Amino acid sequence: MKYDYLIVGAGLYGAVFAYEAARKGKSCLVIDRRDHIAGNIYTKEISGIQVHEYGAHIFHTSDKRIWDYINRFAEFNNYINSPMAVYQNELYNLPFNMNTFSKMWNIRMPQEAKEIIAGQIAGLKITEPKNLEEQALSLVGEDVYRKLIKGYTEKQWGRDCRELPAFIIKRLPLRFTYDNNYFNDRYQGIPIGGYTAMIKKMLENTEIKLGIDYLEHRMELNAMAERVIYTGQIDRYFDYCEGVLAYRMVRFEHEILDCDNYQGNAVVNYTERDVPYTRIIEHKHFEFGKQQKTVISREYPSEWHQGEEPYYPINDERNNAVYEAYRKLAAKEKNVVFGGRLGEYRYYDMDKVIGRALEVAERELK
Ligand code: UDP
Repeated sequence: MKYDYLIVGAGLYGAVFAYEAARKGKSCLVIDRRDHIAGNIYTKEISGIQVHEYGAHIFHTSDKRIWDYINRFAEFNNYINSPMAVYQNELYNLPFNMNTFSKMWNIRMPQEAKEIIAGQIAGLKITEPKNLEEQALSLVGEDVYRKLIKGYTEKQWGRDCRELPAFIIKRLPLRFTYDNNYFNDRYQGIPIGGYTAMIKKMLENTEIKLGIDYLEHRMELNAMAERVIYTGQIDRYFDYCEGVLAYRMVRFEHEILDCDNYQGNAVVNYTERDVPYTRIIEHKHFEFGKQQKTVISREYPSEWHQGEEPYYPINDERNNAVYEAYRKLAAKEKNVVFGGRLGEYRYYDMDKVIGRALEVAERELK
């Protein structure tokens, strides 16, 4: 039997493509080298709690078309992400907003906060921020940068803030209202029942084989399909001929605790350099869980080595240039489409992944 599509990777990108292809009557085989579907948005039920095994994922988008689309596969709860940040013994609200500034400087009014920040950045003379440090300083000033950004970012990325691209910090809203919503998007929530169930629904009409490494069986697998949708690491596909793309990895220590509420919030960031983890996730609070136990995960960022699970692409100049070389090679592969976080080497939010997969599906499945 020959499939129309072999989809390499059972994550969000692959699942959206598979759903669209099945809808158009195409036959697909989805494979994944891991023993589960859903890629890094995989959730696993532990003590009745959906645990985000590869890190917390909160769905958010301003695109109504994508929101309507994803709601076909799951009902979303009304969770709004409002992380807390701990710096030494001080507790702050995130993202940077009037609650943060009020606690930091004992003030109440937006104008006071603006004046303090303006005073802290007046001497810096940053016109066009060239890196993350300049971007952060020019937005929030010295105090917020030093307490809530520098340590967290440097341990998260394992690099000096001056060597990191400014766009990373642009993900975070800055507002002068008392609003702790981490995202500016119109729609937000967590799929009730977990992300794995959502992906399972997308793949309902598609054949799936797990525990298969595409690149180790490339010849046989290619012979089974007309076209390939590849969502794995693009450099590995080309046998690293243009160099190895770097990633940042995160390691989780999951723990089941015999208490019903450990930290009172789903996400608490530890912004000091000396605390070895960046955040503690308490999963039940993503779904307003009432269980007697709780599951927490400490998130430790670390260097990534070949063979390990890649998480965050590091989109600095060097890696972007290497990726560009691979992109050119990819364009010459007539029967293969490269997509998703690893296939396109992009720090993608979930809604953007869906958007890209739909775009490609529309082009492919005409
Ligand atoms: N960040 C920070 N302090 C925080 C939280 C985030 O400086 O308490 C910065 C940091 O540079 C991080 C970026 O904002 O890499 C994006 O954080 P986010 O939580 O959006 O990233 P993700 O959830 O994708 O890991």
